[in-house]
Amino acid sequence: MAAPQRFTSLAGALCALAGEGTKIEKTSRIFGGDINEAYGLTLTGGRQIFMKSNTKENLSFFAAEAEGLNAITGTKTIGTPKILGIGTDEDRGSFSFLLMEFIHGKSRRADYWEELAGQLANMHRASTAGLVTNGKYGFFCDNFIGRRRQINTGYDSWTSFFRECRLEPQFQDASRYFDGQDRKKIIRFLDHLDEILVEPEQPSLLHGDLWGGNVIAGNDGRAWLIDPAVYVGHAEADLAMTELFGGFSPTFYDAYKGALPLQPGYERRRDVYNLYHLLNHLNMFGRTYLPEVKHIVGRMRE
Ligand code: ADP
Repeated sequence: MAAPQRFTSLAGALCALAGEGTKIEKTSRIFGGDINEAYGLTLTGGRQIFMKSNTKENLSFFAAEAEGLNAITGTKTIGTPKILGIGTDEDRGSFSFLLMEFIHGKSRRADYWEELAGQLANMHRASTAGLVTNGKYGFFCDNFIGRRRQINTGYDSWTSFFRECRLEPQFQDASRYFDGQDRKKIIRFLDHLDEILVEPEQPSLLHGDLWGGNVIAGNDGRAWLIDPAVYVGHAEADLAMTELFGGFSPTFYDAYKGALPLQPGYERRRDVYNLYHLLNHLNMFGRTYLPEVKHIVGRMRE
């Protein structure tokens, strides 16, 4: 899939999208994200598009988000907003932007959860050819989880990838929260990770940040995926994240397991996958997440 088109001004991007002379007729701020500013833009002629903006230096966030959405789109399995372009703008105070199709949240279809499960299972079953450089797991570029960099170096072992590109960098950045005793436990835990994690039957493209806020109902009442932190990994890491903050219906889980049966022992591995997100929250938002992190590390070595 082609890289997103890059623009050097917002005005230029809008003209390229909707014709010469296109202006923003109305701007509505949209809340709900925690990294960027988000807006609905109504353009001359009435077309509505969605824009995220951040400082100019953060254009790389948007380039990575666009690559992730494009990778999901490439599986042809589930709705994702079409990327309309990315760029920077110096005209109105220097910022970067990501433009995409606007998804008007509508009420969910009756089979919303069941269909989401089937589509997600299909995404997890889709070919990952060409998505990883030098290995089975990872992604061809690094991206971001929240506002923190996510390393996607290619690996042939899922367990090694998860240890070295997911847990270790997070533990290193969180080192100030741990004493000598904790550190010993963490090292032991990481050394024995292959006794807990298993290699997947096949590599899967993951959304990578699949909490409830990143699944929204589109105009068609179907589930659309937004704001991914994609990489190729074990499908059950996505499923685990849906359980971390809740909000997914029991119907979703039944249908997902019907479509793509889980390998035995998922419940134990689930907490290890979610440890990554808890550590990321610890590193972004502070010590509220520390007890749960310590609890998981302690329990896994019992
Ligand atoms: P952040 O990058 O800051 O986490 P999000 O991707 O979560 O931002 O988006 C911020 C808000 O915009 C959320 O409320 C989300 O539901 C909404 N949103 C995201 N993408 C679209 C879209 N394509 N169309 C309409 N609303 C969207």
